[in-house]
Order: sequence, then structure tokens, then C-alpha cells
Amino acid sequence: MTTFQELRRAVCDLHAELTRNNLVAWTSGNVSGRVPGEDLFVIKPSGVSYDDLTPESIVVCDLDGKLVDGELSPSSDTDAHAYVYRNMPAVGGVVHTHSTYATAWAARAEPIPCVLTAMADEFGGEIPVGPFALIGDDSIGRGIVETLAGHRSPAVLMRNHGVFTIGKDARAAVKAAVMCEDVARTVHIARQLGDPVPIPADDIDRLYDRYQNAYGQ
Ligand SMILES: [Zn+2]
Repeated sequence: MTTFQELRRAVCDLHAELTRNNLVAWTSGNVSGRVPGEDLFVIKPSGVSYDDLTPESIVVCDLDGKLVDGELSPSSDTDAHAYVYRNMPAVGGVVHTHSTYATAWAARAEPIPCVLTAMADEFGGEIPVGPFALIGDDSIGRGIVETLAGHRSPAVLMRNHGVFTIGKDARAAVKAAVMCEDVARTVHIARQLGDPVPIPADDIDRLYDRYQNAYGQ
């Protein structure tokens, strides 16, 4: 059972994975994690540099995105995270980045086609594009949920904006963000010299099933 302080520390530490994997510039990007058994989640404070993040600086919000505990203002993306937690009960972690290659696909509003076995494993198909949405109301959160509902992919490319990923916990959402950028880069490079070859749908199904159900320790 994760305690409150352990979750704050875990989410603080996971932000270091965003910088380590070159997914973020300056203070953009954020990780959040649902507090197990409570209608609460923890998230990065707004405008704090990655080097200055501490477990104590991670803020606690309710599922309407209102600050419950913490001295700093929550991330400006908090409403989008809150909308996802309210509407997707199985989601325990959300990540947002403007990682370069994935966001380049988002700028073209082009889904990343499933042309790599690693994509079939992690995403179960293409990585879809969500709608254009402005910050300030529920439209980003609604776009994320409407795009990912009924989709295997834990990642969505929000048009003209960037990546949102979901997971059973914050760590799984960070992994999806790292993998999303990795495949976005590889498929982009493949495109430079020709047309990447699609993987047949039934092979995607087999790869996805094996990876999700049998792979690992
Ligand atoms: Zn953003």
C-alpha cells in the first residue's frame, strides 16, 4: 500500500525521467499520480524548474483540480489531468510532454502508424491524434478521454500541442511517454527514405496480447 508521502516522492522522482529521456524543455511537461483509494491525485507545481522539484513541492488536488495540500499552485495542465481521473477510473497516472518527434506528428495531425513490433507491444496499433483544444476549460481533458476510450493506445497526440499518456500508475504513464517519443522518432526516420511497411492487424493482436499478458518477470 502506497502512503501519501511515498507517492509524492515517487512522482517527484519520475519527473527526472522526463529530463533524463529528453522529453521536456524548461518547465514544460508534468507527471501526476492518483492517490489509491481517495478522490485525490498528486501533480507537479506550476513553473518550478525540474532541478528544484522536491517531494514536498508536489501538490495534492481533488478530482475537480482544486488544490487540497501544498504551498505552490498546481500545474497549468491540472484540469486536463483531473478530467482524465474523473472519467477513467482505471487510470492511476497521467503524463504530459511536448517531446520533439511525437509533437512533430501532432503538428501535422498525423497518427503514428503501427510499423514496429515495439509499437504493437506497447500501443496495440497506431498512436491516435486528439482534437485541437485550448487550455482553460475541460476541452483538453475531454479530447484525451474521447480519443483514448475504446483505444488500446495509452498515448494520444493532441493536435498542434503534444503528448498525453495514461497508465495504471504514474510509472506506467511515464514509460508510455518515453516509448511514444522513441517510436515517433524511429518512424519519422523511416519515412525519410521511403514508406514504412505496415504490420498485419492479426500480427499486431498477437504481439499486443503476448506483451501485455506474458512478457516480463
Ligand atoms: Zn502542453
